[in-house]
Amino acid sequence: MQKRKPHTNSYTVGGLKPGKMVRSKLKVGFDLDGVILYNPIRTFRPFASFFKFLKPYLFHENAESFYFPNSNLEKFVWRQLHKTSFKVADGYQMIYELVKKGLFDAYLITSRYDFLKRDFEYWVKKIKAKKIFKGCYYNKTNMQPNQYKKHMINKLRLDYFVEDNWGIIQKLSPKGRSPSGRNGVKILWISNFFDKNIQYKYKFLSLQEVADYFKKLLSF
Ligand SMILES: [Mg+2]
Repeated sequence: MQKRKPHTNSYTVGGLKPGKMVRSKLKVGFDLDGVILYNPIRTFRPFASFFKFLKPYLFHENAESFYFPNSNLEKFVWRQLHKTSFKVADGYQMIYELVKKGLFDAYLITSRYDFLKRDFEYWVKKIKAKKIFKGCYYNKTNMQPNQYKKHMINKLRLDYFVEDNWGIIQKLSPKGRSPSGRNGVKILWISNFFDKNIQYKYKFLSLQEVADYFKKLLSF
């Protein structure tokens, strides 16, 4: 894996001329389920009313705390649910190309709990994540998903984080428009049909749209 080279591939921010504001490569974090992996079940909401405990997860409800499955049955259902994240999202190839060109460093960060480790590792291999991402992280210590993501955003000092869960975005970015967390981090939202009425500054409908956004932003 390539080592980070500060001050190479640098770019300008805010229209400043090269040399006036030089900084190292952008760091972009990507969620796994619903971002790198296209998850059709996320839009299949009736499923959620059947398994009530999945409601906050599927409906993106802004629950006080995110659900953690306790019983074996719940863990089983939770695992099955994550197996539905079966397809790499369109746009992944373009993300790969942008990273290869050295336009930004990418990180994979999922709040999947520890008992999903094996499935996580399966996907890391399957999508050749280590060729693209400088680091692949999952929620080993079972923190609350929003806290885990905030923790990783700060730890890795990310400039962008791409997330699909509106409930998590509201926690990372309580005012919707000026994301909190590390000062200046922008949370990009991959939304869906059902949330089309929610206003948000960095709202996208697919990973492809996010990839196009970065391509535009970083080509000069
Ligand atoms: Mg997600």
